[in-house]
Amino acid sequence: MTSFHDFGLAEPITRALAEEKYATPTPIQAQTIPVVLSRRDVIGIAQTGTGKTAAFAVPILHHLFTNRRRPERKTCRVLVLSPTRELSGQILDSFRTYGRHVGTRAALVIGGVSMGAQVRAVQNGVDVLVATPGRLLDLVTSNGLRLGEVEFFVLDEADRMLDMGFIHDIRKIVAKLPKQRQTLLFSATMPGAIAALADQMLRDPAKVAVTPSASTVERVEQRILHVDRVAKPAVLAEILQRDSIGRALVFTRTKHGADKVVRGLAKAGISAHAIHGNKSQNQRERVLAAFRQGEVLTLVATDIAARGIDVDGISHVVNFDLPNVPETYVHRIGRTARAGAAGVAISLCDAEEAAYLRDIEKLIRMSIPATDHRTFPRQAQRSITESRTSRPFAHAAAKRRQRGPGKAQRKQDRHEQLRKAPNGIAAVAFLHRDIRSGHNTDSRRGEDGNPEG
Ligand code: AMP
Repeated sequence: MTSFHDFGLAEPITRALAEEKYATPTPIQAQTIPVVLSRRDVIGIAQTGTGKTAAFAVPILHHLFTNRRRPERKTCRVLVLSPTRELSGQILDSFRTYGRHVGTRAALVIGGVSMGAQVRAVQNGVDVLVATPGRLLDLVTSNGLRLGEVEFFVLDEADRMLDMGFIHDIRKIVAKLPKQRQTLLFSATMPGAIAALADQMLRDPAKVAVTPSASTVERVEQRILHVDRVAKPAVLAEILQRDSIGRALVFTRTKHGADKVVRGLAKAGISAHAIHGNKSQNQRERVLAAFRQGEVLTLVATDIAARGIDVDGISHVVNFDLPNVPETYVHRIGRTARAGAAGVAISLCDAEEAAYLRDIEKLIRMSIPATDHRTFPRQAQRSITESRTSRPFAHAAAKRRQRGPGKAQRKQDRHEQLRKAPNGIAAVAFLHRDIRSGHNTDSRRGEDGNPEG
C-alpha cells in the first residue's frame, strides 16, 4: 500500500490524515489496517514509534463512521487499554486527531486524577474510551460504566502491562466484555504469558509484525561508553553539554536513580527534570508538555514512566544505567529515531553491567560499537542535524545550562568529579572531541585526560 486512499477509508479520515501530512502508511499500518477493516482479530508485534496507534485507530474510526449509532448511557463502543497514563492520553489525542471530522465522542479514564469528572464523561456513553486497567476496574465496580456494549477491544503494549502486574486486572476486564467483539493486541515482544493471554482473548487472529531490527534499531546510531560507575554523573554532564545534543532523554533503572541524576546534573549547571511514578499526574503532564515544547531539554525517566512518552525530535537517548531486561533497551532507544528521523543512543556501561550488554547485543543481533578509540561517526552528526527542525543545537546546549554555578565553577566541579573517576576521563575526552569535530580520526589524543578535549 502506498497511500491511505488504497484502503478504501472514509473521506473524513483520509482528510484528517492528509492534514497531518501522513503521505504513506508505515509498515505496521500497511499490514494492520486492511485486516482490521476485514473485521479480523489482530496480534501485532510492534513497538511505539512504528505508527501503531494509527494502525488500530484509523480502521476503528472508519468502523465508527460507517456504523454510526448513539452509544448507550455508561457504555463505550471501543475500549483501549494501555499501561500508563501518558500513553493513554496520547492514544486519546490520536483518536481525536484522526477522528476530528468523524465526530466521535472519546474519553480518558486514568488513575492519579479525581474520578468524578471521569464518571460524568461516560455518563451519556462514549464511542471511544482509553483507559489504564486499575481505574477502569474502579469505574466498572462502582457502576459508573458497563462493558457489555464493547465492539472493539484494544490491548496496547501488552508486554509492558504484564511487567507492571496488570495481568489480573486485564483478565477481570476481559471477563466483562461481550464474546462477540473484535480484539486487537499489540506488544513489542511476545513472552509466553502474552502468547497464552492472546490465545484466550483472540479468535483466529491475523499476525502482523514489524521487527525492531527493521524499524528502529538500524536507524539509531548506537554507542557504548565503558565507564566506572562513579564516573557516570560526570560523563553524563559532559555528554549533555555537547552542542550536538538537542532534546535528550536519559534513562535510569530506578526512581531514586532518576532523582539522583537530576540533582547531579543541577550541580554541574545543567537543568533537567525527572519523570517517574512518584510524581503526581499533574507534575508529569507539566514536565512532558514542557519537554514537547522544547522548554525542558533533558528529561530523566524510568522505563515505566517513559513508556508513554511520544515526543518527536528526541535527538539523543542516554542510558545512564543499562536495563537488565534486554527488550527494554529496544524500547528505550526507540524514543529517538521516531517517524523516520535519525537518532543517537549512548549507553554508559560499568563493569557490573557487562552481562546486560551481552544480553542486549544478543537480542538485537549486533554488537554496539564502543566510543573508545574510534570516533563518533560523522554520518550520525549530519543526519541528526538534518533531522532537527526546531531550534539549533547550539541554542539547545546554551539553554540546557541553567543559571547556577558560573562557568569557571562548573568547569572546576567537572574536573573534580572526573579526577575522582579516572576511567571516565578517556571516554569523555573521546566523546567530546568526536562529537564536536565529527572527524573520523583514529587519534588517541583524547586519552591525555583533558576533558575539555
Ligand atoms: P506511534 O508508534 O503510534 O506512537 O507513532 C509514532 C509517530 O509517528 C507519531 O508521532 C505519529 O504521529 C507518527 N506517524 C504515524 N503514522 C505516520 C505516517 N503514516 N506518516 C508519518 N508519520 C506518522
